[in-house]
Amino acid sequence: MLSGAALSLGDLGQDLVAVPLSAFPQKLDDSRFTVEARFYQKIENKRIKCKLCPRECTVGDRERGYCGVRENRGGTYYTLVHSRLCAAHVDPIEKKPFFHYLPGTMAFSLATAGCNVNCKFCQNWDISQVRPEQVPANYAPPRSVADLARQYHCPTIAYTYSEPVVFSEYLMDAADAGHEAGIRSVVVSNGYMQADALKAAYGKMDAVKIDLKAFSESYYRDVVVGELKPVLNALVTLRKMGKWTEIVYLVVPTLNDSDAEFRGLVRWIKTNLGVDVPVHFAQFHPEYLLKNLPITPVPTLERAKAIADAEGLHYVYIGNVPGHPAENTYCPKCRRMLVERVGLTARQMLIRKNACPFCQQPIPGVWHA
Ligand code: SF4
Repeated sequence: MLSGAALSLGDLGQDLVAVPLSAFPQKLDDSRFTVEARFYQKIENKRIKCKLCPRECTVGDRERGYCGVRENRGGTYYTLVHSRLCAAHVDPIEKKPFFHYLPGTMAFSLATAGCNVNCKFCQNWDISQVRPEQVPANYAPPRSVADLARQYHCPTIAYTYSEPVVFSEYLMDAADAGHEAGIRSVVVSNGYMQADALKAAYGKMDAVKIDLKAFSESYYRDVVVGELKPVLNALVTLRKMGKWTEIVYLVVPTLNDSDAEFRGLVRWIKTNLGVDVPVHFAQFHPEYLLKNLPITPVPTLERAKAIADAEGLHYVYIGNVPGHPAENTYCPKCRRMLVERVGLTARQMLIRKNACPFCQQPIPGVWHA
């Protein structure tokens, strides 16, 4: 699979490939990962104020911010995770999930340690909720990431698994290296980021997926340890930037699954982002600190989709339920199926020239390289 011809749609979902970290040089010393941060202000007494995410951590000398991957050394702020790769896989882009961006292609997917929130349902807590020194990592400078993406026949690099906000400098440099090599970049993010940093870092992305974790401040405060408003602002900013964006909403039983919350969410999307942004209602599986809750019942996901459909959103998907018909893309005008998916496999893609081949309705997205 890795050394053969370009992947066909039928290849997807057969094997997700874990890229061995030995593909990258062993780290020599921590200084190779330590690069001055790009989004901070120096303040008095060698302290700094981080301007990357809305927490705006004020950090004293020899201290770190909340995310644990940024450190003040003598009044200069550093990221400790530039090129510090702790996970790399070749995944179908549908796994991110992107359903309207280069379907049927593979994404060279990578992460460093760290996160700026603390979701109680985190699926990757072993790399997101740790400091960089607590997980094995290898040195993967931006050029090597672009080279590996090409070697593995991936048209995109995906920044994912942990929280790319906290490795923004690495993401920006890898995106530049990728673009020089003809490789695009996509990011999977919580969107909890300051506007200027978002414009600078995600301005280099070709597509963005935002995890909108709920539509209430109380959930963000109690379950995510973050805030909803900055995430909504980020979505509006991405729309103004013209960035291709998809939204995932993980439906957690009893915590964010009421009709009122679904309706509030989709009405906000319709008003502020429009009806064409794809929305994925994803099934929750008990993980990390929420093992006491059940898997989201499929009827709950179908209820969310029915509300979104009734409110007029055009592309509403059900995620993490392999084989569900709501994994497919349908034309909003003639209702014919345009992309057939089973799990992470895109089996058929009928869209031609960015339109439905049956009724010529334009279908938003990036369908061909
Ligand atoms: S990115 Fe990290 S250090 Fe900066 S404000 Fe957010 S949590 Fe604090």
